[in-house]
Amino acid sequence: MRTLFVSDLHLCAGRPQSNRVFFDFLEHEARSARALYILGDLFEYWVGDDDLDDTFNAGIVAALAKLVASGVPTYLMHGNRDFVIGEAFARASAVTLLPDPTMIELDGNATLLMHGDTLCTLDLAYQAFRREARSQIWISALMRQPLAERKAAVAVLRRRSEQEKRAKPAEIMDVAPTEVEATLRRYGYPRLIHGHTHRPARHVHRVDGHVCERWVLADWYQGGSYLACDESGCHAVHLKAD
Ligand code: MN
Repeated sequence: MRTLFVSDLHLCAGRPQSNRVFFDFLEHEARSARALYILGDLFEYWVGDDDLDDTFNAGIVAALAKLVASGVPTYLMHGNRDFVIGEAFARASAVTLLPDPTMIELDGNATLLMHGDTLCTLDLAYQAFRREARSQIWISALMRQPLAERKAAVAVLRRRSEQEKRAKPAEIMDVAPTEVEATLRRYGYPRLIHGHTHRPARHVHRVDGHVCERWVLADWYQGGSYLACDESGCHAVHLKAD
């Protein structure tokens, strides 16, 4: 049986094509999987679990719950856009929240799962923002604001981040090779699967005489994409939007 991995779907009401591909993926490919792992940035943004009643969000939650009810365990790791997804979301969707990073055993292969943003250590400004934004103080302050104000604040943050991204050199937006090596060493030379950079690829790293595979998942801006792994290895599959 195949285990499936996705990330960087960036689901939002304004991208109906990707949403259709995702619903179709949950109804078909994912149904026969041993498990589904969503490695961050399921949503374009998530401002708090008190937004679960939103029609669009409720549709996604219901579709995930249906998949889990059909017998496919589904795991969700936070991305940098949806890291305030909490227990209420997990209960409603029946997904299991995973810490970043998480090690799993997959057909006898130690496999390390990450969103991927913590590997981008060359982007010092982002790492500083990440440390601040993941603090309990920052999250509590955010959650004290009314939902509508949080949505407006996130829209401002997103615009600022898009502007900053355009000004940054491409290599800063990618993972730092030294951080990848250090991570592989720290976790005993596993296979690594992550997203975040939107640079889908299979990399091979040679670290201390060990050969480690690193799979980078694709985003869902043009159709969808998933990585399927079984005892014979992993391969990426593209899902066309109709
Ligand atoms: Mn990301």
